[in-house]
This record gives sequence, structure tokens and C-alpha cells, in this order.
Amino acid sequence: MSQAHAFPTLSVIDHPLIQHKLTIMRDKETPPILFRQLLREIGLLMGFEVMRDLPTVNTSIVTPVAPTQSPLLAQPVTIASILRAGLGMAEGIRELIPSAREGHIGLYRDPVTKQPKEYFVKLPRELGKVVLVDPMLATGGSAAHAVDVLLNKGAKPEDISLVILVAAPEGVATFAKFHPNVRIFTAALDECLNEQAYIVPGLGDAGDRIFGTL
Ligand code: URA
Repeated sequence: MSQAHAFPTLSVIDHPLIQHKLTIMRDKETPPILFRQLLREIGLLMGFEVMRDLPTVNTSIVTPVAPTQSPLLAQPVTIASILRAGLGMAEGIRELIPSAREGHIGLYRDPVTKQPKEYFVKLPRELGKVVLVDPMLATGGSAAHAVDVLLNKGAKPEDISLVILVAAPEGVATFAKFHPNVRIFTAALDECLNEQAYIVPGLGDAGDRIFGTL
């Protein structure tokens, strides 16, 4: 956790409720049904903080008592999930902002080049502010590629927030090298990656744990 200060674009959201839920998720005995529920709850709690700076515009309305000026969100919001684990985290953010558009970015790792390859991309025409979700930031390659996809569709780096549950310092460093103007929010910055590119101590394969495919 102490390495967080090394990354200027990284915010660790270490609210005690989030840390409590994350500890239960890390436990290998936690079953998929509870894992999914906790991921949704953490997504909601993190989303609240991630969207704190969304711009608003004062709008004229008439209450039952008087006319007034009151703020509404100034731009659309897109929740973009990196498939497949991002889907679990998107659930909680969708609860916070049900009017959000949703996009999906499917990537796999090319076995020869080891580079991320797109197998599915579907995004709204107008992206507005983008909340890009993927629970694990391991090597950083997929997240960096997903941001490239968003930039190619017209998003601006400062309009994208990458929301992660558990990040490895190696992944944060790689991602920040490619995208120094994209903010990263994580619930935890863990110690390192192991030889199989799993985050240590991490929580294992997030997709397998969400969908029960272990
Ligand atoms: N992806 C996961 O789901 N877990 C890791 O530890 C690393 C990448």
C-alpha cells in the first residue's frame, strides 16, 4: 500500500467498508455468489467517489413551491466493461447511475505476440465521461489497450477513469507510462505479480471467481 505515492494518477480508495468487503473477497473459501455480491457493493461504493467530480449544469425547474436553478449532470456517462470480469464491477456502478450508457471491450492475449487483441468492441456513439472497469490491473496491457480503443472512438484521456479493485505496482506503472493523463482508482495496491502474472496476494482469477468457472 505504501507504494501508492509513487503514482501521481493513482487514488487508493481505502474506506473501511471497502477494505472489509475486499478481505472477504480475497479469502479463497468465499463462494461465487458472495464474491459477486461483494464486487457489486464495492463497485457502488467506489463509483460514488470516482464520480465525485462529474460536471453539472444549473437548470431551471419549478418545484411545487418556487422556480429555482438546480444542478443536473452536464454530460452523458458511459460505463465501459473490459470483458469478462469488468461485468461484475459494472453492476454496482450501474446501480448508482442507471441512466449511464454501457459499452463492452473484449480482449484476449495473443499466445504468440502476448499482446492484447480485440475480439469484441461495442460502445455508445457519444461517450461523454467514461468509467472503465476491470477488477484486476495485473500487467496493465489490457487496460492500456482498452483506453486506446476509447481514445480511437473520440474519448479524451481526462474524461476516462479506470476503476480497479486490486492493482499490481507493475500494472500501474505500465498503464501510467502509456496513459499519463488517465486517472486510476483502486481499492488496493498489492505487492507484486508472480511468474504467472497473478497479483500477490490478490484474489486469484477474478473472472473465474465471479462466474464460478474455477
Ligand atoms: N487477472 C486476474 O483475474 N487475477 C490476477 O491476479 C491477475 C489478472
